[in-house]
This record gives sequence, structure tokens and C-alpha cells, in this order.
Amino acid sequence: MPKNLIKETKSRFIRVRCPKCKNEQIIFGKTAQKISCLVCGKELAESTGGKTKIKAQVLEVLS
Ligand SMILES: [Zn+2]
Repeated sequence: MPKNLIKETKSRFIRVRCPKCKNEQIIFGKTAQKISCLVCGKELAESTGGKTKIKAQVLEVLS
């Protein structure tokens, strides 16, 4: 069975928009720590078991 499943983000930069204050920010898709909005401090992404879970609106994935 082919592994074509879309996994959660790996080593990429992702442009996201904060759901709270609409600030756009580029984050690294693979991180070991939480990423917070630079403006309002809302958590935008967190690491879960080696993968990054994005909690904000993804605008663009920059490969
Ligand atoms: Zn924000």
C-alpha cells in the first residue's frame, strides 16, 4: 500500500496567520518548541511527538 498520506509538516517554512490578531508570521515547520505569535503571544504551533501541529491558519508553505 503506497504511502501517499499527507503528513504533518516537516522541514519547511510556513506562513501562517494568527487567528487572534491576524498577524502574518513565517514559522519553521519543524520545531521542538512552541511557537507563539510575535504580536499577541497566542500559540501558533506546538511540537507533538516530533511533528509540528499548526494551530493557526496556514497561508502558504514555503519549500
Ligand atoms: Zn497574534
